Amino acid sequence: MERVAIIGTGYVGLVSAACLAELGNKVICVDNDKKKLEGLKKGIIPIYEPGLDELVRKNAKAKRLIFTTSIREATEKSQIIFICVSTPPLPDGSADLTAVEDVTAEIARAMKEYKLIVGKSTVPTQTHEKIKRTIKMITRDKIVFDVASNPEFLREGHAVRDTLFPDRVVVGVESSRAEKLLRQLYKPLKTKFLVTNITTAELIKYARNCFLSTKISYINAISQICERINADVEKVAEGIGLDVRINPHFLKAGAGFGGNCLPKDLEAFIRLAEKKGYDFELLKAVRKINTDQKRILLKKMEEALWIVKNKTIAVWGLTFKPNTDDIRNSVAIEIVKMFQQEKAKIQAYDPKGMPKAKVALKGVTFCKTAYDALRGADALLILTEWDEFKNINLEKVKKLLRQPVIVDGRNIFSPSAMSAQGFIYKCIGRGSDLA
Ligand code: NAD
Repeated sequence: MERVAIIGTGYVGLVSAACLAELGNKVICVDNDKKKLEGLKKGIIPIYEPGLDELVRKNAKAKRLIFTTSIREATEKSQIIFICVSTPPLPDGSADLTAVEDVTAEIARAMKEYKLIVGKSTVPTQTHEKIKRTIKMITRDKIVFDVASNPEFLREGHAVRDTLFPDRVVVGVESSRAEKLLRQLYKPLKTKFLVTNITTAELIKYARNCFLSTKISYINAISQICERINADVEKVAEGIGLDVRINPHFLKAGAGFGGNCLPKDLEAFIRLAEKKGYDFELLKAVRKINTDQKRILLKKMEEALWIVKNKTIAVWGLTFKPNTDDIRNSVAIEIVKMFQQEKAKIQAYDPKGMPKAKVALKGVTFCKTAYDALRGADALLILTEWDEFKNINLEKVKKLLRQPVIVDGRNIFSPSAMSAQGFIYKCIGRGSDLA
């Protein structure tokens, strides 16, 4: 049993804390958002993540998981301290490390004995050097400590599973004491444990996220070719994904990637490379393909409806992907705004994302059900691939829409089946959908 502190109780911090508590550790969570913490103390989970509610409640009840706003208290009560605060983009695309610096200084001020400080937030390489320097300066070099990097690879929507059954755990360390502590902590996971130096671990996170972005932009570029030559991108993805060297994941053509991680980490990695004197042209192309891809759905809607202005568009899906309530950097939100700029009226529905979307979007009618969004709408626009939409009653959809037009940014239906049912169905990169 280790004594662990988690600083920053968001998507990464809360899931990590609940899972580490589930493994039998004593975990103390910190956040500077008092409202969030007060809610957590009462069992109110601030995010939607399958399985998280039960895990938090169970471990809080067993007193393995406690919450505080005090970094001092958390530092005093634990030996391993994980930094899980946000690292949002600065205007130039590089990562804003203000929160990381703030909490580092507070940890240092509270340190009286050995601590292992582990970076889990996604940060530019060599950030650990700055963390180390700050701690040494504040503690006047009188306290022994270690820093480490333990990049986080969880996927929102599968975060609990990914944390309890990870493909691998990567740790960057520079002392055997730190390695031993982290090996011990993660031992119950029985997974591949990759030990590197700290800079390499920090780099692995950016390299992995940007590789995933590259896969998505690659298949989206292929979808463009498919549309021009009457081929089917879904079949191309299947055909190349069956090659074990490629694998089928992240080969889903669509309206582009968003979310709290991929776009921000892509920008940050391009900036990091630039600062080190390397022009990462490949990643710049990935970014451009993604930007262009987001405009495609508006074009497809114009092809179907002619003029979008004053038309009522039903929108299904607002979160950046299914099984989460996270709308940060969601492509769906961007696309809704794009349609609003063209003066379309939006009637939207999302199974989990509406409370957060209501804050981010103005002038949208939010509907209670997927069917309600269709009433009186000129067309349906699908922006997130929730299972609820895949299993919908299409006859009912056809009856509720003013005309049977669907523009599908996530390719959830088969074009031939949709056209057999009498829909005008426009999707991404599937030849039979060619105008
Ligand atoms: P988040 O915004 O959900 O959580 C961050 C939390 O830190 C918030 O609750 C915020 O209130 C808190 N915080 C900010 N400043 C603080 C401070 N000074 N003191 C105490 N608490 C503070 O963000 P997230 O999605 O959990 O991401 C956290 C980090 O992990 C980021 O660097 C992100 O890139 C990385 N990451 C995220 C994911 C993901 O899927 N969300 C996956 C892997 C890595």
